Amino acid sequence: MPGAARRSNDTAAGPQIGANQTFVYVEGELWMVLGDVNAAHGPAPHVPGPDLMVEGSSFVFIDGIPICREGHLAGCGHPTTGSSVVFSED
Ligand SMILES: [Zn+2]
Repeated sequence: MPGAARRSNDTAAGPQIGANQTFVYVEGELWMVLGDVNAAHGPAPHVPGPDLMVEGSSFVFIDGIPICREGHLAGCGHPTTGSSVVFSED
């Protein structure tokens, strides 16, 4: 199952530096949600950044915002990594 994307601990090539929600933590870090910031990385289109997460769950929300999990895409096209402990199907 795909793991929960976490601020700081996960990357979509660039570090995940969101977050638009401040309520739900996974392994001590905020659970990334749609629209959260992924740091600039590498050559274009991954810069100038910062980039935003553009894909999220259809079923799981935090504070009304879709959560991001392993495989969801940042705007640059890179998929995010995720937790090996906390999961969300989608
Ligand atoms: Zn990228």
